[in-house]
Amino acid sequence: MATRVLSSPNLLKKLRSFIRPLNSAASSAAAAVSPLNFDEKSEYSTVEKHHPPPPTTTPLDFDDYQKLFASVSTLKLLRSSVNLGLASNDTFVDFGTWVMNSRLIETPLVRDIILKTVKHTFFEHFCAGETAAEAAKCLRKIQEAGLRGMLAYAVEHTTDNAGCDRNFDGFLQSIEFARSLPPSSVSSVVAKITAICPLGLLRRISDLLRWQYKDPSFSLPWKLYTLPIFTDSSALYHTLQKPDPLTPQEESDLQLAHQRLLKLCQKCVQYNVPLIIDAEDTSIQPAIDYFTYSSAIMYNKDDPIIYGTIQAYLKDTRERLFNAVKTAQSLEIPMGFKLVRGAYMSSETKLASSLGFDSPIHNGIRDTHACFNDCASFMLEKVADGYGGLVLATHNLESGQLAAWKARDVGIEKGNKKLEFAQLYGMSEALSFGLRNAGFQVSKYLPYGPVDMVMPYLLRRAEENRGLLSTSSLDRSLMGKELKRRLKSLQFGKPAAAGGMKIEVGTP
Ligand SMILES: Cc1cc2nc3c(=O)[nH]c(=O)nc-3n(C[C@H](O)[C@H](O)[C@H](O)COP(=O)(O)OP(=O)(O)OC[C@H]3O[C@@H](n4cnc5c(N)ncnc54)[C@H](O)[C@@H]3O)c2cc1C
Repeated sequence: MATRVLSSPNLLKKLRSFIRPLNSAASSAAAAVSPLNFDEKSEYSTVEKHHPPPPTTTPLDFDDYQKLFASVSTLKLLRSSVNLGLASNDTFVDFGTWVMNSRLIETPLVRDIILKTVKHTFFEHFCAGETAAEAAKCLRKIQEAGLRGMLAYAVEHTTDNAGCDRNFDGFLQSIEFARSLPPSSVSSVVAKITAICPLGLLRRISDLLRWQYKDPSFSLPWKLYTLPIFTDSSALYHTLQKPDPLTPQEESDLQLAHQRLLKLCQKCVQYNVPLIIDAEDTSIQPAIDYFTYSSAIMYNKDDPIIYGTIQAYLKDTRERLFNAVKTAQSLEIPMGFKLVRGAYMSSETKLASSLGFDSPIHNGIRDTHACFNDCASFMLEKVADGYGGLVLATHNLESGQLAAWKARDVGIEKGNKKLEFAQLYGMSEALSFGLRNAGFQVSKYLPYGPVDMVMPYLLRRAEENRGLLSTSSLDRSLMGKELKRRLKSLQFGKPAAAGGMKIEVGTP
C-alpha cells in the first residue's frame, strides 16, 4: 500500500529557510556573477575552436544579437519572426482556436487547407517533423549546434485501448529510434500517460486516489506502492462524492495501461535512455503521478531513469515535491523530475471556477516564479549531493540565470548528466545557446508526429506565446533587431557563416 506522508510543519519550515535566502539573494548575485555569457562561444563547436572569441565576464548579453544570430539565414530569421509574431497576436490565436474547435474543421476541404497552412507555419516552427526520420534530421542539426533532443512522439488524450496500443507502439519506436542515434544527441524520450491509458480511466483513478487521501480507510485493492501524491493544500474539489470502486473491466484496463508503461520503462532501462513523463491537468494528474511514481519505484535503481514532471504554477507544488523526494530518499529510490511552470492555466482556472472553487494555480505570476525558483534550488542541492536528477524546463531568463548561478555555487560539475536545461523547439533560442555556452547540458523538446495529431500541442504553444509580454517576446525582439540591422546594411541572403557557429532558429 502507498504511504501517505503528511507534511511536517517543521520540515517545511526548514525547507523554506534552506532555499529562501539563496533564492532571494540570488537575483542580484546572479546578475553580478552569472555563469551565463552569450559572448562566450561553445566548446562543442569545432569551428568555433579555431575562432575563439575574447572571453568576457558579462552576464547575458542580449545586445549582441548580430553575433547570436550570426549563422541564421535572413529567410529563416524572417519566417521564425513571422511565426512567433502571429502566435503573439491575440486575434489570430483566438480565431485559430475557434476554428480548430468548431465544426468547420470537420469539412474535408477546410480541414485540408487549415492543416496545410499550419504545417508550413507553426508546425515547421515548433515541431521536429511528421515522422521519426524527419525528427532524426532535426536532431542532427540540433546536435551540430551543441544541443541535445528530448524525443516526444506527440500523441495525447486517448479514449480506448486500441488507441492506447497504437500510441504505445509509437512510443516504443521512439525509444528504439533514440537507441539507434548517438547517445550524445538524445537526452531522453518523453511520454504522456494520457496516450497509453484511456482518459476516462485516468479520471476515475484520480477520483479514487483523492478520496483515499480524504479518507485513508478507503481501500484501493489495485493500488501499488507509490510516493506521496497529495498534500493538505492539494486541489481535491474534483471529487466531491465517494466514487464507486473500479469495475472488473476498469481494473483490467488499468492493468493493460500499467503493462504498457512498464514495457516502456523496461526498454528505457535496457537502453539506458531516460523516460520523462509529462504533466497534464489536475483533473487527471494524480493518476499520472501514481503511474509515474509506482514505475519509478520499480525501475529507478542506481540512477533515475523514470522522471516525473512537477508544475510550479500549482499552489501545493513545493510541499508535494518535498514530500515525494523525502519519501523516495527514505526508500533509496533516485527520483528524477522535470520542473516546468505549467501549460494548462486557463483550463485549470475555468474548471475550478465552474465548480465554485479557487483556482489551484498561484494567485499571481510572481508566486509561480518564486515557486519554480525554490523548487529548482531545492533539487539543485539534491543533485549536488549526488541524489536524483533534474531537468529545468523553462524559457524564463531569470530562472535560467538563477539556476545556472546556483548550480555553480553548489558545485555541480560541467557535464553532470543529472542536470539538464530544456527549452521547447522553436522557443527561447537565446537562453538555450547562452546556457550551452556556459557549459551546461541543454536539450530541445522535440515533438513529432502527423500535423493533426500535434494540434493540441500547437494550440498550447499559441496560448503561451500570445500577448506582447509572452514567453517569446525576447526572441521576437532580438530577431526583429537583427532583421532591421540586416535591412539597414542590406545584408540579404545567407549571412557569412564561415567559421561561425551553426544556429538553427525555429524551422529545421
Ligand atoms: C522542455 C519543456 C517541457 C515541458 N513539459 C511540460 C509538461 O510536461 N507539462 C506542462 O504543463 N507544461 C510543460 N511545459 C510547458 C511549460 O509549462 C511552459 O513552457 C511554461 O508554462 C512557460 O513557462 P516558463 O518557465 O518558460 O516561464 P514564463 O514564460 O516566464 O512564465 C509563464 C508561465 O507562468 C505561469 N503564469 C502566467 N501567468 C500567471 C498568473 N497570473 N498566475 C500564476 N502563474 C502564472 C504559467 O505557468 C505560464 O505558462 C514544458 C516546457 C518545456 C520548456
